[in-house]
Amino acid sequence: MRFGIRTLDEFSLRGKTVLCRVDMNQPVDREKGTLKSTNRIRACVPTIRELSDKGAKVVLLAHQGSDIEYKNFYCTKPHAQVLSQLLGQQVQWIDDVCGPAARQKIRELKDGEILLLDNVRYVSEEQTLFEMKLRLTHQQQANTLLVQKLAPLADLYVCDAFAAAHRDQPSLCGFQQVLPSAMGRLFEKEYCTVSQVMEAPDRPCVFVLGGAKISDAFLMMETVLGKGVADQVLTGGLVANIFLTALGKAIGQGSVDFIMKSNYGEYIEKAGRLYERYADRIVLPEDLAWVAGGARKEAPVGQLPEGVSAVDIGSRTAARYDAAIRAAKTVFVNGPMGVFEQAPSEYGTKTVWNALAQTEGFAVLGGGDSITATEKYGLTERMGYICTGGGALIRFLSGEELPVVKALRHGAEIMKE
Ligand code: ADP
Ligand code: MG
Repeated sequence: MRFGIRTLDEFSLRGKTVLCRVDMNQPVDREKGTLKSTNRIRACVPTIRELSDKGAKVVLLAHQGSDIEYKNFYCTKPHAQVLSQLLGQQVQWIDDVCGPAARQKIRELKDGEILLLDNVRYVSEEQTLFEMKLRLTHQQQANTLLVQKLAPLADLYVCDAFAAAHRDQPSLCGFQQVLPSAMGRLFEKEYCTVSQVMEAPDRPCVFVLGGAKISDAFLMMETVLGKGVADQVLTGGLVANIFLTALGKAIGQGSVDFIMKSNYGEYIEKAGRLYERYADRIVLPEDLAWVAGGARKEAPVGQLPEGVSAVDIGSRTAARYDAAIRAAKTVFVNGPMGVFEQAPSEYGTKTVWNALAQTEGFAVLGGGDSITATEKYGLTERMGYICTGGGALIRFLSGEELPVVKALRHGAEIMKE
């Protein structure tokens, strides 16, 4: 038991049928039918391997594709292929989620065999719109089709999908009501790592917040500053631009237009209030960069030419952040410092990311584009911890109790093996 949740250590697995919910949601190349990235699948390997090695019949549940817009659902077949390669063992796949064919296949599994079911979001009750409209309790989720059809075939439910832990859906929160449940190894590692950052970080604890997901950044900032978790928040990207606009610093009309066009106007006022309260801990860029004629230009904040767009922190700011990160004992990072996808505006992100790799402090990093930057600079092996979760991580750091954590805790209370 860790944090009130049972771990795999507490169960005997040989001959048991285990339903294991993983998060293998990856960008898909729909034309080729392949995955553009496999980092989340790789992260799932240790738990799946352990379950199989210990003789369980492993049934994997996973989703692939968008939650609300219904634009990019995709089958989980490519995932089974990638997983087979990574495990060096065949992962069976079936184009059924919980119908008779899937159930028959589950009954036929032998000890150690692995079966990946098709995309759970093909079942309507797994969709985010359904979740938001109906807001089923976990008890009600246990009465959904998916849980009713699959739970009777299984001995244990394992959730390893930390990246989906902010979702309140039957495949994530329903099974714990009717089956013994545990968190998988990845979930355990991610949850314990981020809990440590929130509850007892080694100090100084520095947050680096950039990127473009403004609502997330602000929610998180209010919590970590309010609770005293963050000793310093270094800002970059659009987050910094909004603060600077709130303080009336000229950052180029292009930047202001971009903020307005993205409907982030309301955050300018919020930023002003937040800065009033926490000016001693919120660090803003002293210089910024823009691109003119394909070349990088820099100027101190307040002195940018009219009309330009600030797309990166300047080199003086980058040096200052570099020093702060190297002096930190804990660093949490979400969101790049600029438009790192383009060469003239990558300097800030590249400098900060190198500092993250080199600091003796423990650097925790999360977010899709932040991970892409890490891969781009070849630093994947050198970060303290890369979290597979974006939304889940941010909600956790914003002080929310994650639905899946709640369901697993409750499961530990009500269910004995
Ligand atoms: P993550 O995926 O790591 O959580 P976000 O999605 O919040 O990060 O932000 C990443 C995006 O923000 C990148 O595509 C990057 O180009 C963009 N970005 C960073 N800085 C700026 C900026 N100053 N202006 C506009 N876009 C920016
Ligand atoms: Mg992103």
